[in-house]
Amino acid sequence: MGKFPIADAALSKIVVCKKCKARNKIGAKKCRKCGYSELRPKRKDARVKK
Ligand SMILES: [Zn+2]
Repeated sequence: MGKFPIADAALSKIVVCKKCKARNKIGAKKCRKCGYSELRPKRKDARVKK
């Protein structure tokens, strides 16, 4: 869990297309934008800026 529980909850409902990186609702079988079927969960761990 990150710093913001609400943000975590929102992010956990999002999957991202591996092809075009469009956001899709979790449970989607295909990307709404390009139709690609490989979607990954949006990463929830905070990225540290370099
Ligand atoms: Zn896509």
